[in-house]
Amino acid sequence: MIKRNPTRAVRVGRVTLGGGHPVAVQSMCATHTQDVDATVEQAEAIRKAGGDIVRIAVDGPKDVEALAEIRRQTSANLVVDLQENYRLAKTVAPHVDKLRYNPGHLWHHEKEKPVREKVRFLADVARDHDLALRVGVNCGSVDPELKERFPDDDVEAMVRSALEHCAMLDELGFDRYVVSLKDSHPRKVIEGNQRFAAARPDVPLHLGVTEAGMPPEGVIKTRVAFEQLLSRGIGDTIRVSLTLPNPRKHEEVEVGRRILEDIAAGRFRSVPVFDDDKLNIISCPSCSRVENEKFVDLAQAVKEMTAYAQGHALTIAVMGCRVNGPGETDDADLGLWCGPTHVNLKRRTETVGAFTYDEILPRLKRELDALIESRTAAPAR
Ligand code: SF4
Repeated sequence: MIKRNPTRAVRVGRVTLGGGHPVAVQSMCATHTQDVDATVEQAEAIRKAGGDIVRIAVDGPKDVEALAEIRRQTSANLVVDLQENYRLAKTVAPHVDKLRYNPGHLWHHEKEKPVREKVRFLADVARDHDLALRVGVNCGSVDPELKERFPDDDVEAMVRSALEHCAMLDELGFDRYVVSLKDSHPRKVIEGNQRFAAARPDVPLHLGVTEAGMPPEGVIKTRVAFEQLLSRGIGDTIRVSLTLPNPRKHEEVEVGRRILEDIAAGRFRSVPVFDDDKLNIISCPSCSRVENEKFVDLAQAVKEMTAYAQGHALTIAVMGCRVNGPGETDDADLGLWCGPTHVNLKRRTETVGAFTYDEILPRLKRELDALIESRTAAPAR
């Protein structure tokens, strides 16, 4: 039997994370939050599939109104992801069980205000409304100051960010929090969580590989990370992020439960080392922020169109919106992020242009061919 890290217990609605409780499984609604019927239906599908916690995206007051109604119609434990506007926490709080904030986003908003003040605000809101918090750090959106301090080690920047926020919450006397350290590469997820758990074995960890992509590759990446971490006793709750159409979104929970069952039963498949010598397509799991419903089909079409380039060590990222798309594609050799009518194409941090959904695939192919040619002409440095 796997010996779990001695994390403290953090209650989220009717489920408890850490403290020896079973590893909880979460997922996120990808419907438009203001489409209450569709969101309730998806939250219920996730709950019935065994989802312990359901995340919902809220970007403004209209979403908060919808959230209040969603809360009335589902018994799922709810968590909201605060993106840019951390002040929304106050209006969201009466309708949820947990709030997630991203330290990188917190840094950017109201720049003149010390981050500590913003964290205090969130801790006060959580305390007043009997909520838990998740400090959700993403390797791709770590605050710029830490990025500068660790220019060659983005995993360390991510870990330091998480540790700093834990220290702030501890100083504020708020201990009802969990931490996540995510990236689209399983190796970084494994490293980041191992380093963090060594420094803070008491803090419950939420595990996930962001933008893992479509099954089966997305499942493999996630399985690799979870097997490595859970078998070492690291991890108290998991989220599998897959690019799936809305009616299949609850499959994230089924996949998560299957991985947990396999690990508990000692069924470690031959752990596939995530192969860095091959083409790696990452795509976001989609959520209510997706700007065009063609996104899931586009991600699938990119995968099919690029199959010919399997043998090249390149990363292509496909993201559904402007909230995370521009930043999260920076590290990819080629990045696509969706707008309502156009898809933006990037070469790493450089923008190539915006193309219609009909134009994008041939344009991407041109870029990919050029990249392969340049690499073949100038072998790896
Ligand atoms: S990239 Fe945008 S659409 Fe995709 S999951 Fe992230 S926030 Fe949602």
